[in-house]
Amino acid sequence: MSRARAEINLAAIASNLKFIKSKSKSQVLAVVKADAYGHGLVAVAKAAESAGADWLGTALLEEAISLRNGGISKPIIAWLTPPGEDFKTAINLDIDLSISSIELLTEIAAAGKAVNKVPRVHIELDTGMNRGGFGDELETVISDIASHVKSASIKVIGIWSHFARADEPGSAMNQTQLSRFNSAVEQLKNAGISSEYLHVANSAASLTNQDAHKNIIRWGIGLYGLSPDVNNMGSSAELGLKPAMKLISKLQLVKAVKAGQSVGYGSTATTKVDTKLGVVTMGYADGIPRNANNLAGVFVAGQRAALIGRVSMDQFVVDLGAASLAKTGDEVIVFGDGSGGEYTIDEWAKACGTINYEIVTRIGTRVPRIYPRE
Ligand SMILES: *Cc1c(COP(=O)(O)O)cnc(C)c1O
Repeated sequence: MSRARAEINLAAIASNLKFIKSKSKSQVLAVVKADAYGHGLVAVAKAAESAGADWLGTALLEEAISLRNGGISKPIIAWLTPPGEDFKTAINLDIDLSISSIELLTEIAAAGKAVNKVPRVHIELDTGMNRGGFGDELETVISDIASHVKSASIKVIGIWSHFARADEPGSAMNQTQLSRFNSAVEQLKNAGISSEYLHVANSAASLTNQDAHKNIIRWGIGLYGLSPDVNNMGSSAELGLKPAMKLISKLQLVKAVKAGQSVGYGSTATTKVDTKLGVVTMGYADGIPRNANNLAGVFVAGQRAALIGRVSMDQFVVDLGAASLAKTGDEVIVFGDGSGGEYTIDEWAKACGTINYEIVTRIGTRVPRIYPRE
């Protein structure tokens, strides 16, 4: 087998989708941006669609186009398109687009005219995150939007927003954003702009805040079996989610070294006792963060072996311990769901000072994704 691979458990993806379906009356949009958080765009989208996803959502237009070309027939939204994208193709493929500026609205409406089809749009509202969406300027552009609606140069399918702190369920900001959303929806309605769908909830809000469910929830990190915030919301297991990615690599070499030997670039770590070291054939070029510390490592020959020294571009070293039975050529589990004793994605995130989202998303393209059958 290869020196590195990411095994994706599509049954876990299906289970995580069904889990949230059972918890909400709303339609579920499976968020598959960023190559399905590193799990593989089309394979995950198909698994989510068969498990009952009502919508698919991506950030980029090219991701949405790949979904259509890959055979996805459910509604798709691409919500992060700058001006200048291929909107004609989007409209022809029935891909819903999001608008958060008049510039973008004008361009999308013109593309619709050019292909003789009414673009389906979702209006993004900035309710306090101060990132995308119409904020205070809604006042000044609302009549422009309304005239586009009236002349049928666009069709408003949805109105949506995004929480800044949904992973802190106790934060008052969640309620503030929701109230702002509700009043802006009212304001749009009074101007003649109404919409069949309203959506604001990400995974964290889907799990903790029924008021935010509206009629579509956007299920991202939860689809992959990961907790939106381990500290505030509990682990995957505590939430009832199944992590879907298992990262496997190999020991290119096992060798004995004496106590007091420094390891790797910068000699940042030193062996404390006589031990065995294992050279793992993945590095930061594969998405293993260079700043990982010894709170992470691999599972091999029945036990954990912690990282020692800096992660290199194509390899990192683990301290196997003198008694380890690991041999040159053995497979190692870098991370998995933890059920066999291996490090979890959350443990790797902690060891790198980041979040589980980043650990899975950054696994590089030279690591093949494979989809073992159950
Ligand atoms: C990424 C994203 C989501 C999903 O967020 P999770 O925390 O992964 O559930 C939902 N909505 C938008 C607009 C996003 O960009």
